Amino acid sequence: MSAWLDPVRRALDARSAPVALFVRDDDAGWADERLAALLTMWAGHRVALDLAVIPSELTDQRAQWLTGWRRACPARLGFHQHGWAHVNHEPTGRRCEFGASRPLDGLRRDLSHGRARMVEALGAAVDPVFTPPWNRCADAVGPLLVEMGVTVLSRDVTAGAIGAAGLRECPVHVDWSGKKRGLRLTRHALGAVCADALAHRPVAGLLFHHAVMDAPDLHDASALLDVLGRHHMVRSVSLVEAASLLPRPRGSDAIAAAEASA
Ligand SMILES: [Zn+2]
Repeated sequence: MSAWLDPVRRALDARSAPVALFVRDDDAGWADERLAALLTMWAGHRVALDLAVIPSELTDQRAQWLTGWRRACPARLGFHQHGWAHVNHEPTGRRCEFGASRPLDGLRRDLSHGRARMVEALGAAVDPVFTPPWNRCADAVGPLLVEMGVTVLSRDVTAGAIGAAGLRECPVHVDWSGKKRGLRLTRHALGAVCADALAHRPVAGLLFHHAVMDAPDLHDASALLDVLGRHHMVRSVSLVEAASLLPRPRGSDAIAAAEASA
């Protein structure tokens, strides 16, 4: 039995209005077999999924394969840009592809290469969303994304907000494969994290990393999606829709209006 999901059920039962839930899976382009296993599991649930795709790994063959999944599945499968090549550029500290140590030109070049490859390979299926590898990027990336037509940034909730005009920030709250002091969370700890994330906020995000999910992981993730997909206090939404439900950062409307009239 999945007793670790009891706190999740209780948190949802206690809500007075539904939570809009989006689900992200990162690193499409790596570990195709595991992605196929995750998509097969996901296809049995009534939950939308947003795939974060690594553009430099997006061969034409992979793009066709992903497009096939999109066509075949009844629930919505979205694609968006996950960095450019998922490589670290920081000489010290935490890994980051679009970090503060890089000149603006390099950031802009890799962002636009990634965007161009996504659109070339997946066409209109690409959402105007960006998720940075390792869920972190420099604040300077915000305006560069807006320049390229990207309107939504999704990182981890602990990353805070950049607050760039024209950019909505829609963070994830639960990292299924997240670690504490170097160790994966137990199922019971994960259940508590999920319950906390789903208890009060209007919009919540759940993050998977298929490349590190084995069969027991998929089994338990399926049990969670089953609860989420069936509960009347969960409304499954895409990342784009989730972002549209969040209040705009203070001042962004005024700034955007001033820029539009300049
Ligand atoms: Zn990643």
